Amino acid sequence: MKTTTLTATLTQLTRFPRLFPVNCYLVREDDGLTLIDTAISGSAPAILAAARRLGAPIARIALTHAHIDHVGSLDALHAAAPDAEILVPAREARFLAGDMSLDPTEPQSKLRGGWPTCTTRPTRLLRPGDRIGSLEVVAAPGHTPGHVAFLDTRDRALIAGDAFQTRAGIAVSGVVRPLFPFPAMATWHKPTALVSARALRALDLTLLTVGHGNALVSPLAAMDQAIAAAARQEPTVAAHGA
Ligand SMILES: [Zn+2]
Repeated sequence: MKTTTLTATLTQLTRFPRLFPVNCYLVREDDGLTLIDTAISGSAPAILAAARRLGAPIARIALTHAHIDHVGSLDALHAAAPDAEILVPAREARFLAGDMSLDPTEPQSKLRGGWPTCTTRPTRLLRPGDRIGSLEVVAAPGHTPGHVAFLDTRDRALIAGDAFQTRAGIAVSGVVRPLFPFPAMATWHKPTALVSARALRALDLTLLTVGHGNALVSPLAAMDQAIAAAARQEPTVAAHGA
C-alpha cells in the first residue's frame, strides 16, 4: 500500500494508487492509532505493517460506511487486533449484519454498490456528534443512508469517506466523473448527498481527505465548485431530513 504522511497526526494508506485507488487512514492519538475504514479484502497485512512503522497499536477501527471497499478487511483486522474497538455508524451496522432494509422515513431509492456481511460486531454504535478521541462524528448521508465523516478537532482535517471523491477531479457523491465513475455508481440518494456536501463545506476545513483520490489542502474553493456542479444536476433538492 502506498503510504502518504498528510499531517503529524494523519497518514493515508492507498491500495491500487494508480488504477483504482482505495484509501484508509491512520489517525494518531495519545493512546494509539484510530484506523478509519479498512479498504478491500487482503489489505490487513499492509495496514498492520503501516501501524507498526508508526510505532503505535491500532486502538480503534471506525467506519465511514459499509461498502465493500471500506469494510473488506474488517474481519481480518479484528482477528489480528482483537482488542481494538469496532466503531460503526448505527445505521450502517444493520447493513454490515446483512439487513438491507430501508426505513419508511428514508428515500426508497435502490441501495447500490457492494455490501458484504461481516462477522465482526461493533463494540460501539456511532451517532453524529459522538467523539472518538480527537475526532468528531459528522452526519454525511447520501452516498449511503448512514454514511458519516470524521472531523479532527485539533486541525480541522476531515476524513470524508465517499461523501466526496477527488480521483479524476473533485465531485460530490453521485456526480459522475467519467474517468472514475465508481463512487457515483454506488451512490444511494444524490439529493441527500448534496445536502451533506454543503454541511461538510460549512465546517471550516483545512484538509479534505476521501475514500478515492488524493487529499486536498485548503479545500473550500474546490468544494464550492463541486457543490455548484452537483446543484446544477439536482436543481430542486428535496432531501431526506432537509
Ligand atoms: Zn462507498
